[in-house]
Amino acid sequence: MSFSIKLVSWYQNNKRDLPWRKTVNPYHIWLSEIILQQTRVSQGTPYYLAFLKEFPKIEDLANASEDKVLKMWQGLGYYSRARNLHFTAKDIVNNFKGEFPKDYMKVLKLKGIGFYTAAAITSFAFDMPYAVVDGNVIRVLSRVFGVSIPFDSSVGKKHFQQLAQEFLIEKDAAVYNQAIMEFGAIQCKPKSPHCSSCPMQDFCVAYATNSVAELPVKSKKIKVKNRFLHYLMVEQGDDIFLGKRKSGIWTGLYEFPFLEFPIKMKESQVMQSDEWSKVFFNSKSAVHSVSMEFIHILSHQKIYAQFWQIKAASVSFAEYELISKNNLLELPVSRLTEKYFETIDLG
Ligand code: SF4
Repeated sequence: MSFSIKLVSWYQNNKRDLPWRKTVNPYHIWLSEIILQQTRVSQGTPYYLAFLKEFPKIEDLANASEDKVLKMWQGLGYYSRARNLHFTAKDIVNNFKGEFPKDYMKVLKLKGIGFYTAAAITSFAFDMPYAVVDGNVIRVLSRVFGVSIPFDSSVGKKHFQQLAQEFLIEKDAAVYNQAIMEFGAIQCKPKSPHCSSCPMQDFCVAYATNSVAELPVKSKKIKVKNRFLHYLMVEQGDDIFLGKRKSGIWTGLYEFPFLEFPIKMKESQVMQSDEWSKVFFNSKSAVHSVSMEFIHILSHQKIYAQFWQIKAASVSFAEYELISKNNLLELPVSRLTEKYFETIDLG
């Protein structure tokens, strides 16, 4: 039996019962694929169900405010996914009469949709013969066929795409694509794969050469930058300074003004710093509390953050506005800020 046939047969016996597997609606499939990028199934499923409940049709998503979409996305991270989702919903409603195009190249041109997502949507919804290549697929192919070319190199990307397309069962693309991804997710896992019960064991190169742990190979190591942030929750009466981010990964989310230092600083050092003086130099200010340190890890950054509750008259911050404290919980914020909110009484 060939690799592809074995894969599909394994899938029929082992697949998980996931809500997006019960539909061929391209809107639902697109939504699930965007939510599941960089996100575990257990974490993404409640978001998928909540989005479909709030926005049953693509028109509902297109007509929602950006604040609403970001608020619903809160906690999932990688917020550009939510902004692109919203943009593309409007694009499809305005330029495609609310229908997902049944054309791979047109799907690929939509904002926030790359090769993987275009192949997933067109194969799962329309059974078109495009092979998906994600982390799970790369791991399976590299181990079974002993491919040690770094998958993040340009040669590697091309090679894995070709290999995936070569093994695709074209007349059953939806099932084959689901099968290889599911196999990577639950059988040929990154750590501790289930080799002893694996149907590919007889011909798996990695298993035969004892190189399962070495495959797949990655060339680039991401450099992680440490950042030390002190968020200033400056209150004036019942209001608090808050601003909407205009750039970076947290674009569209609300955040407090902050001071950033190149190294870890004690509270007394922060209050004696030039940065602090510039903000509070001629105002009466009283620090009410300083939070514990929160550590928040992103793909390229490790953020060490503390939140300062301060009452200060006659202070102002360019690009931040005074917003009623009562509205704080309704606005979309980063998971970092949300984690802090969970430790205090905002009522
Ligand atoms: Fe993956 Fe192990 Fe199966 Fe090879 S034998 S495909 S490494 S689970």
